[in-house]
Amino acid sequence: MIHLILFGPPGSGKGTQAAKLVEHYGLTHISTGDLFRYEMENNTPLGIKAKAFMAEGQLVPDEITIGMLRNKVNSVKETRGFIFDGFPRTVAQAEALDHLLEERDEEITGLVALDVHEEEIVQRILLRGKTSGRPDDNDESIIRNRIEVYKSETTPVSDHYRRIGKSHTVQGIGSLDEIFQRLTGVIDSLID
Ligand code: ADP
Repeated sequence: MIHLILFGPPGSGKGTQAAKLVEHYGLTHISTGDLFRYEMENNTPLGIKAKAFMAEGQLVPDEITIGMLRNKVNSVKETRGFIFDGFPRTVAQAEALDHLLEERDEEITGLVALDVHEEEIVQRILLRGKTSGRPDDNDESIIRNRIEVYKSETTPVSDHYRRIGKSHTVQGIGSLDEIFQRLTGVIDSLID
């Protein structure tokens, strides 16, 4: 099975590219951000717990996030593999994911990061905020906070996979199709 981590800062285009990759490779998309938003919209106990963290641009605690991810992965019965989007976001989450896949006699195929500089992502998120209805997309200080959390807690995840030769980066600036071509170039080389 193919298990890809689509990596990069908030607003780097992971969700958009994940949708295209899912179609191209026949994989199952798992976005923890989307899962949390679904829980919030339905006012579930999980959604209520996640809400305050998300509104502040903080990470939802690992315990909650890992439990939700595990349930989601285990609920998918037939698939060629997964594209993880927005997960793992901490080293503890990466270790939990490695462990979960190991239990299934599987492993991460590779992490592919979208490289986009900070000012570009702030502008992209503010633009997205005009239509996304996401409160965390509409306030520049919250957006900057998400970027700081990304730098301190999330970038170590790519180092975790770099140590085992599984971390790759593509330039995340350009047209949607150009970026998609760069991603499939790397992914094809991983699965051939
Ligand atoms: P973006 O990539 O634009 O930040 P996401 O939809 O991936 O958007 O995430 C939105 C918010 O959901 C995050 O700021 C965080 O509060 C929460 N979240 C999503 N994924 C995780 C995760 N893996 N661990 C902790 N919190 C998460």
